Formats: sequence, structure tokens, C-alpha cells
Amino acid sequence: TPLVGVLALQGDVREHLAALTAAGAQARPVRRPEELAEVDGLVIPGGESTTMSKLAVIFGLLEPLRERIRAGMPVYGTCAGMIMVADKILDGRDDQETLGGIDMIVRRNAFGRQNESFEAAVDIKGIDGGPVEGVFIRAPWVESVGAAAEVLATYGDHVVAVRQGNVLATSFHPELTGDHRVHALFVEMAQRA
Ligand code: GLN
Repeated sequence: TPLVGVLALQGDVREHLAALTAAGAQARPVRRPEELAEVDGLVIPGGESTTMSKLAVIFGLLEPLRERIRAGMPVYGTCAGMIMVADKILDGRDDQETLGGIDMIVRRNAFGRQNESFEAAVDIKGIDGGPVEGVFIRAPWVESVGAAAEVLATYGDHVVAVRQGNVLATSFHPELTGDHRVHALFVEMAQRA
């Protein structure tokens, strides 16, 4: 059973811990570099990427996170987490840091404001059994992807799920639906690595 951490600086940490446990992982929150060093994989939750970026600096996690991602640790970012693993952000704050990991440009708040949040069925490459319910909350979209990144899902004209090597990212929040297929895919990635 892989030990999968959830970056617990800010955001919907509890929901991811529950979804990971349901998907067969051992799950625990990660707030300190020593905790990061112990996990086989890491989820970066939804929340607010500007706050998460600030707290990562304050908690001394920015460089340790970048290093582990570069070294191939499996990472799954949802929504704000997708923004954190993008190599480049549009409509970010000026001082907003990204961890990087996927050669893509992600636009923050691209689908609109909080009251324009919505749910939609999304077909994901590599996930059997029909579409997942995509919950989009002030969600980003992927504006463009580099050659090494694989598009796993689109909604309308926009890319909403991407994988590059061991890094997975979705614009939406599978941890809020009770459907654990995306988490199961990630637990398998953590298991293999
Ligand atoms: N808009 C948020 C951000 O920029 C993301 C919203 C979410 O994670 N639900 O980080």
C-alpha cells in the first residue's frame, strides 16, 4: 500500500485524505519537509493557489516540493493544485510561485467566478466505466500543453485534465463526488513509482 500525502497548507485536505483511503492508499497530511520526505506520492488539493504558494514559502516547502517533483515523485493536483503543478500561470498574482511539473500554461479562474461554478460529465482517457462528474469551482483551464504532456480530458473547447510522466492534474474536484476512480488511478501511479 503506498503512503500518499496531501499537501495540508490550505484547501480541501480532508476530502482528499478520505478519497485516497477509499481508493486503497495509506493517506496523511503533509505540512513539513520531514513529512514530505516520507510519502510515496502527494496530492495538492483545491483551495486558493495564491495562498498555497505563500504558505509553501513560509513553511519552507517550496524548494523541497520542487525537488521531489523533479526527482519523479507522483503528484496529483486538483484545481488550485493544477495551478501549482503548471510550469506557467496566466492571471496569477505577481508574486505567485508555481512548483511546476507539467509543461502547460494554466489560466486561473478561467471558468469564471464562484457563482459560475458548475458540474459536468467528463470523459477521462484511461478511466473506464463512463464519465466522471466534474465539479468545477472557480476552476482553471489549460490554455496550452507542451509536447511531453498528454491531454486526458476536455470540456467544451478546453483541456481540463493532463498528465506528464508522474504528474497528473485536473481542473475539477473528484474528491467531492464519492467516485474514487481518479484517486484510484493516482494511487496506482504512486504504487508503481
Ligand atoms: N481559483 C482558485 C485558485 O486560483 C482555485 C479554485 C479551487 O481550487 N476550487 O487557486
